[in-house]
Amino acid sequence: MPELPEIEVLKRSLEPHITGLRIERAVVWEPRLREHIDKSFARRLGGRRIERVHRRAKYLLADLSGATTLVVHLGMSGSLVLGPEDAPLDPYEHVSIYLESGQRLRFRDPRRFGLMLTLPTSDLPADKRFRGLGIEPLDGELSGPKLKSLARGRRLPVKSFLMNSAVVVGVGNIYASEALFQAGIHPRRSVSRIGARRWERLSRAVHSVLGAAIEQGGTTLRDFRDGGGNEGYFQVSLHVYGREGEACHRCGGCVRRIAQSGRSTFYCPGCQR
Ligand code: ZN
Repeated sequence: MPELPEIEVLKRSLEPHITGLRIERAVVWEPRLREHIDKSFARRLGGRRIERVHRRAKYLLADLSGATTLVVHLGMSGSLVLGPEDAPLDPYEHVSIYLESGQRLRFRDPRRFGLMLTLPTSDLPADKRFRGLGIEPLDGELSGPKLKSLARGRRLPVKSFLMNSAVVVGVGNIYASEALFQAGIHPRRSVSRIGARRWERLSRAVHSVLGAAIEQGGTTLRDFRDGGGNEGYFQVSLHVYGREGEACHRCGGCVRRIAQSGRSTFYCPGCQR
């Protein structure tokens, strides 16, 4: 499943190639995605200019002229790839967007859990998909004091807190395990028992783990310049995740695995308290 770093890399890779361009037309080949693409979708895109490409959580957003925003979610297996206009149609290419540059933006999604829709730009903040979302981990909103204030009055384990998208968006299971290792915090520790210094360390660790994934993704994508296509996590160097029974890279102790909310958490009992 594409994670936040992949969507960020997709955004960065598409942005310089499509911003400012006019959409000539769009074709919906298969409307049955997670939500049906409505009948006037293609007509609403035609003739509009792409003014800005951005991201919120795992949604890729393109603000179009006429105060409309194109909302794209890749679901489990989606990708958005820029190619020549006359490239052969892929059997899983459900939406094609033809640009004035002679290129075609291709939304491909074998499992069809993805999403594509338009919204009036001003409706975005109140929309059900966006209104409950927590802070963005990459744009400077995330800090030790911010995490501390969000945790006030709560008692849940710090890993569950970190993975709650109403708190912070985009910290998936692997990234949460790795960030807690980097910060030296036990995944089961209650958020009520974490002090200011450790919140600061955790916020830096989240930045660093996601940042490393994005950097890695950027390197991978340099070869084919048009985003998407990759599945799963970028190859970040994992210190604890998936390493049950192996030696901790820091202290040489044994990495352990526990279940938390039905997900595997990996940690080092020697390094994380
Ligand atoms: Zn250790």
